[in-house]
Amino acid sequence: MTDLRLGGDAPACADDGTWLACVECGATLAPFDGIVYRCSECGGLLEARYADYPTFEKFSGEGVWRYRAALPFDAGVSIREGNTPLYEVPGIETEAGVADLHVKHEGANPTGSFKDRGMTVGVRVAEELGVDRLACASTGNTSAALAAYGARADTPVLVLLPAGKVAAGKVAQAALHGARICEVDGNFDDCLDVVAELADRGEAYLLNSLNPFRLEGQKTIGLEILEQSRAATGEWPDRIVLPVGNAGNTAALYKCFRELVAAGEMDESEMPALTGVQAEGAAPMVEAVEAGADEVERWDDVETRATAIRIGNPVNAPKALPGIYDTGGTAVAVSDDAITDAQRLLAEDGVGVEPASAASVAGLLELRERGEIGSGERVVCLTTGHLLKDPDAAAAAGGKPVSVPADADGVLDAIRD
Ligand SMILES: *Cc1c(COP(=O)(O)O)cnc(C)c1O
Ligand SMILES: [Zn+2]
Repeated sequence: MTDLRLGGDAPACADDGTWLACVECGATLAPFDGIVYRCSECGGLLEARYADYPTFEKFSGEGVWRYRAALPFDAGVSIREGNTPLYEVPGIETEAGVADLHVKHEGANPTGSFKDRGMTVGVRVAEELGVDRLACASTGNTSAALAAYGARADTPVLVLLPAGKVAAGKVAQAALHGARICEVDGNFDDCLDVVAELADRGEAYLLNSLNPFRLEGQKTIGLEILEQSRAATGEWPDRIVLPVGNAGNTAALYKCFRELVAAGEMDESEMPALTGVQAEGAAPMVEAVEAGADEVERWDDVETRATAIRIGNPVNAPKALPGIYDTGGTAVAVSDDAITDAQRLLAEDGVGVEPASAASVAGLLELRERGEIGSGERVVCLTTGHLLKDPDAAAAAGGKPVSVPADADGVLDAIRD
């Protein structure tokens, strides 16, 4: 039984008011004495816990470290991550027919995805532990972020990528920031199996979202959305729609809300409904939610144009499923064509995203059509990565250039319909 209650006295193993707790059996562990990714008793996922959960008035400054009172450290290896814009999107708001729609654009982070939020905290923890190599499996963005933060921290980075399935911009980032890149003959889930074994053998410190401290950084997405929404509209959103791969963000947002409940800032009934979107070809979470199950069955074969969410074994499902259920959310699968259409709609409102990000908007439109999201709702869609991450997908979704001679009349002829 998943134990997700927060609060209570710090166990003896706590370090400075921080400890790790198993979400399955409740066992507690010292956070920085040794390297642990899973519960030593039962193998369950671990979660960071604190003696105190801060109120909004404790936050000051900008970006992820504005929320230091809710994080295990006061500062970290930073390249100014977070503080991303919450955009109005009038075109999509009208198309979707909801009372209010905003887009939280995580593509505006330093390396172009929300993964930076996790890495600024995760790499700080790695420094605390004194590790000499950082590693991850990645559909691309995790490797780009880890490569940059590892470079900044002067620590070698190893990344395992599924060969031929990572968008060009992401591989280029990992390469230029100096990561050792291994292309694996397998999918993302195979890469994660391998890198987890390397981590267990003590060969590297694992910075996939299995690492509970990465999710601490990512929970600041939720804090920003709540603060920005209140500033823009006076209200918190009723619902947050987000793409789901390993379900790290779904888990992190749910933890954000539970901490605000523990701090007395939020009623449980005010938690925005967490609404996960997957591509039809990689939808094990949707399958689980549709069955009302509390476990996800791994899909061995996955395929989608949205390569960032081409994942068949969402490792954070045990944390994320309770989040979807407890907040009154849901999960939905969308086709690759619906994803591309949504990518174009976002572009028409001036917001350039990669395919996986557009899944959130595609999911919103699908759930509006089914009547599962009401017209009176205030919704935030999370767009997770920047358009330039996947230039091939963007070029394929956009208009084609025409060839013209080098004179003004030739150009006018060419652009006349
Ligand atoms: C990593 C990633 C996702 C998936 O996020 P999870 O937290 O693993 O569910 C979605 N979109 C983009 C662009 C990503 O890089
Ligand atoms: Zn356990």
